[in-house]
Amino acid sequence: MLKKIHIASHHGFCMGVKRAIQFAEETSENAVGKVTILNEIVHNEAVVEKFKQRGVEQASSVDDVTEGTLIISAHGIAPDIIEKAENKGLSVVDATCPLVTNIYDIITEAVKDDYYIIHFGNLHHEETLGIVGYAPDRITVAGSEEELLSLPEWKDRKLGLTVQTTAHIEDFAIVEHKALAKWPHLKVFHTICNATTKRQTAILELAPKVDMVLVVGSQSSANSKRLASISNDICGNGKLIGSADDILSSWFENSAIESVGISAGASTPDFLVEDVIKKLVEISNGHAEVIQLESKRKNNISRTAG
Ligand code: SF4
Repeated sequence: MLKKIHIASHHGFCMGVKRAIQFAEETSENAVGKVTILNEIVHNEAVVEKFKQRGVEQASSVDDVTEGTLIISAHGIAPDIIEKAENKGLSVVDATCPLVTNIYDIITEAVKDDYYIIHFGNLHHEETLGIVGYAPDRITVAGSEEELLSLPEWKDRKLGLTVQTTAHIEDFAIVEHKALAKWPHLKVFHTICNATTKRQTAILELAPKVDMVLVVGSQSSANSKRLASISNDICGNGKLIGSADDILSSWFENSAIESVGISAGASTPDFLVEDVIKKLVEISNGHAEVIQLESKRKNNISRTAG
């Protein structure tokens, strides 16, 4: 019988996502003519759908946009794409998260200072593609520890290491340690964002207390998937769900699950989390106690604000 529902101390919308949604809302209300978002404004189906219903279009390439206003998503974009859009006469609204822009600035400055950059992140993620666009000839992307450690010695190069904003904090600490052993002259830029740090730290506190963790977020959301994976490693039963509809009452029938933890990725709206809590309370026939956790751990890993 489900008795307790613990809510992670930090979950849901981050600063960059709130800001991007606000930009898109204001633009869709005020812009004259067609409004198009390049890729998903944030990685969440409910948010994407909301803008579609408002008549805002979505394109996966600037080549498909011929007129009006183009909104750049929170994940950012390479500078040559913005240039291309402006050359086509599009009005560009840049909703790139300032913490992603911060990585652009770090890389631009480092390259000016003759650094070559290793970026630790998913090569196919929009954030990475944007970052690479700021110094395409001076960056190598490594998607895993193995890839990173198999890179050349590069003894004569000034080397810098940056990391995807939503990376796994503890895994990256290990990667950083090994990278410094291989390249003692490596300059490490800690670019995992503070929103990621807080949500992962909250999962580390939540998961040991419960029998199951439900992380509300989309499959396309890197940070949501990461939270589900971390919780699964800790409690052995961490699941990523898109909404309350994905919860099966059979999970709780004749089962030993007495406590469930809830978290949500940085792009998940509050209403989806509230629906999940409501459904779990229903499944417990109204008996489950809902407990909002407060963070006890100090956040001392990431050095960027967010
Ligand atoms: S997860 Fe971090 S980098 Fe991404 S939008 Fe949110 S605050 Fe910005």
